[in-house]
Amino acid sequence: MGFEKYYEAFPAYTDVYSEEYRKRIEALEPLLMKHMPARGKVLDLACGTGGFSFLLEDLGFNVVALDNSDVMLSKAREFAKDRRSKVEFVKGDARKLPFEENSFDYVVFIDSLVHFEPMDLNSTFKEVARVLKPSGRFILQFTDLRALLPVLTNGQVVGTEYWISRVLPDTDEKTVVLEFQSEKEHFRVRFNVWGKTAVELLAKLYFRQLHSERMNEHSYFQVYAPK
Ligand code: SAM
Repeated sequence: MGFEKYYEAFPAYTDVYSEEYRKRIEALEPLLMKHMPARGKVLDLACGTGGFSFLLEDLGFNVVALDNSDVMLSKAREFAKDRRSKVEFVKGDARKLPFEENSFDYVVFIDSLVHFEPMDLNSTFKEVARVLKPSGRFILQFTDLRALLPVLTNGQVVGTEYWISRVLPDTDEKTVVLEFQSEKEHFRVRFNVWGKTAVELLAKLYFRQLHSERMNEHSYFQVYAPK
């Protein structure tokens, strides 16, 4: 019931050249540009296969990218070779970052909260605040799954081949198991359910919020400065 199958099924997260991934980049690029005015050193936290790392490199940033998945990192390194990219891909855990304090001008953390339980996200935010320079910025993009959950329905189409066949929240709705079905197969994935309010309360322990905007009905783009 892991994420491997989920990422395999959805090119929006794995194939940086796919139309689905490009759409994600197109939606975020103007916001990143607006809120990252000065070039500098960026940590792409939970970088996946590196689409946003490559974007930021192309825009002139010096990018270090970290993920804890060998599968995602090996795809990212293949793309990097293909593009002659200089992005440094590092295997590591967001909860305990292998970097010195005050190392980065920006940390970007895109579309990854579903992997993190509350204690893990707390450790991650604490680590982000530690590795950011005092003048640095934390850029966070996430889906408000708390708001999305009630409108997730069986039969809802996801991507080009799959639809949701079961929505199975745990009793206190801290996590939800979604079953995805296609003509050929089905699989289940457990997501952590984060809502905007909970994310902001946790972030408040380590950061000052400078900006928050809704990208679409359930997705937010936020900018924080270390406290
Ligand atoms: N940010 C990328 C993007 O938008 O394409 C990847 C997003 S993907 C949905 C979430 C990523 O978080 C996966 O690549 C997963 O391996 C990574 N991840 C999950 N838990 C992690 C942890 N504790 N430390 C580092 N990476 C983690």
